[in-house]
Amino acid sequence: MQDTENFRAETRAWLEANCPPAMRQPLTQEQIVWSGSTVKFANDDQRVWFERMRDRGWFAPDWPAELGGGGLAPKQARIVEQEMLRLACRPPQFNLGVWMLGPVLLELGTEAQKREHLPPMMEGRMRWCQGFSEPNAGSDLASLKTSARVDENGDFVVNGSKIWTSYGDAADWMYALVRTDTTVKKQQGISFVLIDMKSHGVTVKPIELISGKSSFCEVFFDDVRVPARQLIGPLNGGWTVAKKLLQHERAAMSKFSEGAAPSHDALAVARPYLYDEDGTLLEPVWRDRLAALLMDSHAFSLTHQRVKEEGMARMDISGPSSIMKLVQTEQEVAKYELLTQLMGQRGLSWEGSEFSADEHDICRLWLLAKTYTISGGSSEVQLNIIAKRVLGLPG
Ligand SMILES: Cc1cc2nc3c(=O)[nH]c(=O)nc-3n(C[C@H](O)[C@H](O)[C@H](O)COP(=O)(O)OP(=O)(O)OC[C@H]3O[C@@H](n4cnc5c(N)ncnc54)[C@H](O)[C@@H]3O)c2cc1C
Repeated sequence: MQDTENFRAETRAWLEANCPPAMRQPLTQEQIVWSGSTVKFANDDQRVWFERMRDRGWFAPDWPAELGGGGLAPKQARIVEQEMLRLACRPPQFNLGVWMLGPVLLELGTEAQKREHLPPMMEGRMRWCQGFSEPNAGSDLASLKTSARVDENGDFVVNGSKIWTSYGDAADWMYALVRTDTTVKKQQGISFVLIDMKSHGVTVKPIELISGKSSFCEVFFDDVRVPARQLIGPLNGGWTVAKKLLQHERAAMSKFSEGAAPSHDALAVARPYLYDEDGTLLEPVWRDRLAALLMDSHAFSLTHQRVKEEGMARMDISGPSSIMKLVQTEQEVAKYELLTQLMGQRGLSWEGSEFSADEHDICRLWLLAKTYTISGGSSEVQLNIIAKRVLGLPG
């Protein structure tokens, strides 16, 4: 107990001394630092915060120190998270490698695979993208067709294409699902491989979105050679690996409510619309809707904390991770719908209007919130998983 309290006090002191004040302000879309070989910092505070957390191994506090992690016990790692939350520290970096692939490699990778991929991930030198979805394989992911033929040396030759690959044009590596057997049940003929995006035969095409920006890409593979050592798990055993990875993706997405992704403080945005300057309540109906939203959100964060601790205690949280992803992303949509309605026309303004600091980017994040209910498996698909795995209902 004493040790825990000492560790908490030390952590708090270190964060207070090392997290620049500007890095304790709410995160906006533009201020995200994506790790990778082309990592960019908009200012010195971002760079300093990134480097200090990296050097302490706190991009992943509970990973082994010899692989670049912090080497902390799960309980201590949770304290680091709690203290970061308490001080409103921004995540020093966004990194699909650390959030999703890393935990899978730690569990299923060979020693050589861990040594090749984890340290660069932990140093923020490698950016990963996810090559799962294909034009006819989204929710029905097991229908994917991108093929990998095993050649005479045991290496893979990959052909086909992926779609909706977020930031595929900025990634150094892709973790991908490929078909390695067409003669068996579709889930049993899939393998999980790591592909260097600089490999000969990889072409990346950004997909233009209505916003004019593009985060999505199509990725084409034309006889791309992938060394045998980049197979994770057994040949044709990729479906099990993917399911584990998706659990980590859902867990990462359900963490968004803890300030890990750009979001708004609903109360701060709503307050000027609900009260006049003397503090008189103007809109009791809106106030009630907001109170219901805040209570749901508080209940979610307590449940989230419990599920997280169950995960650390090595309990099976595969069912809860779907529930958390579903509830968090739907709550985020509900929050932005309420705020945009409350703000009236201002809530739909995109550019050129004068917003208060609290209102900035509401419309963009309202639209973005909707995408979270699709990525990582849509809400309907999560409901199917919950019905089957948690409630035990027939398929
Ligand atoms: C922001 C964002 C980022 C993404 N990034 C990536 C990425 O980096 N890499 C990657 O591989 N993919 C990525 N995706 C793709 C994402 O995984 C798919 O969009 C998602 O799995 C849904 O597949 P789909 O788009 O093919 O829709 P479909 O599967 O065609 O679904 C269409 C609709 O039908 C519903 N539906 C489908 N099947 C069922 C069912 N059995 N029961 C009930 N309803 C059903 C769905 O819920 C949805 O409403 C991303 C998507 C988004 C929105």
